[in-house]
Amino acid sequence: MIVVMRHDAEQEQIEAIRHRLIDEGFQVHLSQGVERTIIGVIGENTERVFAVSSMAGVEQVVPVHRPYKLVSREFHPDDSIINIGKVPVGGKRVIVMAGPCAVESHDQVMQAAEVVQQLGLSVLRGGAYKPRTSPYSFQGMRVDGLKILAEARDRYGLMIITEAVDHESLQQVVEWADVVQIGARNMQNYELLKAVGQTEKPVLLKRGFASTIDEWLQAAEYIVAHGNPNVILCERGIRTYESKTRNTLDLSAIPVIKELSHLPVVIDPSHSTGHWNWVAPMARAAVAAGADGLIIEAHPNPAEALSDGPQSLSLPHLAELVHSLRALAEVVGRTL
Ligand code: PEP
Ligand code: MN
Repeated sequence: MIVVMRHDAEQEQIEAIRHRLIDEGFQVHLSQGVERTIIGVIGENTERVFAVSSMAGVEQVVPVHRPYKLVSREFHPDDSIINIGKVPVGGKRVIVMAGPCAVESHDQVMQAAEVVQQLGLSVLRGGAYKPRTSPYSFQGMRVDGLKILAEARDRYGLMIITEAVDHESLQQVVEWADVVQIGARNMQNYELLKAVGQTEKPVLLKRGFASTIDEWLQAAEYIVAHGNPNVILCERGIRTYESKTRNTLDLSAIPVIKELSHLPVVIDPSHSTGHWNWVAPMARAAVAAGADGLIIEAHPNPAEALSDGPQSLSLPHLAELVHSLRALAEVVGRTL
């Protein structure tokens, strides 16, 4: 249920309603927009919320029938901007996060970070805990990998994004990184979603490869309902019958999410295509379709990569792509 306040509602009137709803045992979330304040109300028997319709300052009480509330456009009509340090995601600027799939060595990360910085990008990616399909594949450098990322952050003035795969790694990632990535395989790990909801770090929530948009938005709702509003959604391809690409990039998720939710959407053209040569066209298509950002795998030596080499751009190819994206961003009214 949402309580839409009149545009001229006073702060005391908003507070009076908030307190009344809390006293009645509801969970209350305020969304203070440019135009008006909206109060999201969650709990049992929400029909009781209609009782506040007659209180001063209320315009109307509207039921939200969707299974997600706090991440819905109804609750927050303006686009949300999620700040990664000083880097805003969801505004005019398209944010490109780039770096290797996995942290493999000090040298590898520093080489990638130097190029990411020189290209004017502000977020470095790199997995320290790797959820690999085969137990015999490289599993990641864990805390040692996080320390390398943190050193790159300090040396090159970059923000760091890295994946947490369970409660233990989450604690470490929160300590060392700027954005917590929740991977496709964990999109429905509800206990992990609750745990990341109890932190204040921005979260990049990837879409599960067999998840619908509604399931994905409900996963985001878990994080926000547990107290962390800083969620960025990431489409990384879904599994279909097509086998030429690693996954099928669902670009239509961009306009669909924009309609249903206020959260920013980032596209991962690397895991969706699975092949470096198809990354640039899909990255450009994503920007043209209104994506708020991209997360791209790039490696100083893709042929030697311990994880996802075939889909990783070389650093010169990353530079070429960023230049073309800058020109394109301008055409669609964005900056990069
Ligand atoms: C990754 O970003 O390296 C990764 C494992 O992604 P996904 O969860 O989308 O497979
Ligand atoms: Mn990868």
